[in-house]
Formats: sequence, C-alpha cells, structure tokens
Amino acid sequence: MSEGTIRMIEKRIGILGGGQLGKMIFQAGSTMLLDISFLDKSSDYPAGLITKNFTEGDIANYDDIIAFGQNMDVISIEIERVNVEALKVLKEAGKDVFPSPEIIGLIQDKGDQKKFYKDHGFDTSPFILVDSTEDIYEGLKNGSISYPFVQKSRRGGYDGRGVAVINGQNEIHKILEGPCVIEEKVDIDKEIAVLVCRNKGGEVAIYDPVEMVFDDEANLLDYQLAPAAISRDQNINIHELALKMASKLDLVGLLAIELFLDKEGNIIVNEMAPRPHNSGHHTIEACYTGQYENLLRAILNLPLGCPDIISPSILVNLLGSPDYRGETVYSGISEIMNLRGANLHLYGKNETRPHRKMGHVTILHEEHYSPHESKDIIKRVFKTVPKILYNE
Ligand code: ADP
Repeated sequence: MSEGTIRMIEKRIGILGGGQLGKMIFQAGSTMLLDISFLDKSSDYPAGLITKNFTEGDIANYDDIIAFGQNMDVISIEIERVNVEALKVLKEAGKDVFPSPEIIGLIQDKGDQKKFYKDHGFDTSPFILVDSTEDIYEGLKNGSISYPFVQKSRRGGYDGRGVAVINGQNEIHKILEGPCVIEEKVDIDKEIAVLVCRNKGGEVAIYDPVEMVFDDEANLLDYQLAPAAISRDQNINIHELALKMASKLDLVGLLAIELFLDKEGNIIVNEMAPRPHNSGHHTIEACYTGQYENLLRAILNLPLGCPDIISPSILVNLLGSPDYRGETVYSGISEIMNLRGANLHLYGKNETRPHRKMGHVTILHEEHYSPHESKDIIKRVFKTVPKILYNE
C-alpha cells in the first residue's frame, strides 16, 4: 500500500489475473478507495494500464502465487486457470481466499463439474467421461455414445476452445485428444446466464438472467440481451437454481451459471465460472450495483448492493476482426457514441487477433426493445465494430 493513501478499508486485495475483468474490478474498487493489486504475466495487460500495483508473474505457478499472496489479506481471481495448491496453502496460512480453492478446483475440471450437478440434483445434459479418442471410437461402436454429441476437454478449454460439436460421422475429424466429457447435444432454444453473488455472512444478490446470442464461427459471445425474454416461472426457477447452487458450494464471491433452455422449456445447467463474467458486463451501467463492485463487497464481507436492473440493455462484444492480427487501431468511435445510451469500454490490448475480446458496448434503453428494434440496434453496432478493430 502506498504510504499516506487514504483507504476505505485497510485490507490489501490481491487479484490473480490482470486482464479486462481485472481492469473493471480495479475501476469499481477505486471508487471505494480500495487497495487492489494484480498478478499476471505482463503489466501491459489491461489492469496494468490503470494501476502500478501489478506484479509480473504466472498465475499457474505455485511460487509466484505464494510470493504475491503473502503480501495480501484477501485473494480473489479474474480467471480460474490458477494454481489451486498455492491458494490452499495461503488459505491455511489465514488469508481470505474467495472463491475458495475447492470451488476453483471443481470448476477447473468440466468432468468434476458435471458430476457435481448430477450429485446435487441440478439438471444437466446426460454425459460420460472418457480418457482418450480410442474410448470415443469404442463407445460409438458399442452404442454407449451416439450422434449427435458434444465433446469437451476436461481441463484448459475456454471461449469455445476445447469444445467440439460432433453431429455425425462426417465430423469425426473434429474430435479432440485427451480426457474429456462426452455429453448429449441439447436442442437449444436459448442460452441464458445468471450471476449470483454471496458474501461471507451468507447474504445473496442474484442478477436477472440474461440471454446470450452466439456467433457460430467464433463460438464467442456476440451480443447479449438483458433481461432475458423468458417466462415469469422460468425466471423464478432460475433464481432458485442460482440460490441453491451458491449455497451448495458455500460460495463467497461471484458465480456465473451458464444455462440452456431447451425447446421444451427445460432449464439445463451447462457450466459455471466463479468470478466476474462477460455476461455481467452490462451490470456496471444497467444495474443498481454492478458485478465488480458486488464481488469486492462480497469478499470484504460488506453488505451487498442491489442487483436489480435500472434499464434493459444490449451488450455487444467488440471482437478482433477475423482477418487481421497486429497493432490495435481504434476507429469508428463516433458511430458508437452516436447510439443513444451507448457505453463504450475499450480494454487496451496492444495487439488485436481474430475474435480476441477487445472491448464491449452496453446500450441502455428505458424500455425493453422489441425483437425487431433490438435486431436493428445490433446491426448498427455490428456495422461499426469491424471498423474499430481494422488497421486502416
Ligand atoms: P466454453 O467453456 O468454451 O465457453 P461451453 O461449455 O460454454 O464452453 O460451450 C460452448 C458452446 O458450445 C455453448 O455456448 C453452446 O453453444 C455449445 N454447447 C456446449 N454444450 C452443448 C450441448 N450439450 N448441447 C448443445 N450445444 C452445446
């Protein structure tokens, strides 16, 4: 902590990961005069652009986390690919580690996640766990696996990497190596995400579910509508599911739960992330208290802020152009600013790569857009997006 800096709370908060989520955690924390530091590979990463409290190191490395964590009182994450053993040691040494290393460990393995859902009575698509591609060929032969199916690497996948949808024999070349989950393909009507926040005292805040609309090619979130257009009953059921999940996990911090609504209206758990989430960026402007502030309140055991929405919103991810890799050049800013209610966030990554998350825009509107209106707005933003990231 810098000498003489006035703080709301004399606690040093250490965040593992210094990307855009870290940057937005810092932004929320700075309004509350919190002392937040980051550990990640390069201080050129987004969080490093706005604070000097940035230690260069590897969040997957045991020693780096121990050295960083020793100087902290409270430790949290912006990404789950961290060394869990180090976090367990820090927790045993008396540090507040939220979410717990046990939750992070569970989330790191998609196979363990699936078992957790099954064991605790959460609907998830039927699955089996396999160790190798040979097991898959064998399963297809003996009938324990049938088309279409979805294959997910147990570890290390993110943003669609590590997921293969295999619709038939002609797509068998897409199969991934290594231990994985094989699950039934869901007939998806809508992809929904719900965010739940819980503090150490057990107080819970649940954000209204949002609908995520994906780009087939990039497999990355393209745009999102908040709140999701779902029935009142579905809304209530999803709130209950989020509450139950947070309590079963004894969560402290944030948890994003990704769900499928199938064509029959069933609510099916897909996967979770125990940290701020892309599907909650809109909460900064569209809700009374955003996800980043509520994460900080939760891990400091402060009362949580109200998660209710102030205004419906559309969130569009600004992704790196599919055919350009190189220095980031921003243009087309005026078109975005011309959209009424648009809030532009640029992450400050030096290099743009195909489909890389470079920023987002949250567009607020006092009423729900009709499906027709929202399509029109999204089209207008999309027209602008590529221009932002093209090197002109
Ligand atoms: P990631 O961790 O990379 O985001 P996900 O588990 O969210 O991986 O899968 C990426 C996408 O693949 C999902 O958003 C969904 O569109 C599709 N998908 C995943 N599992 C299934 C499934 N069982 N049935 C149908 N589509 C699926």
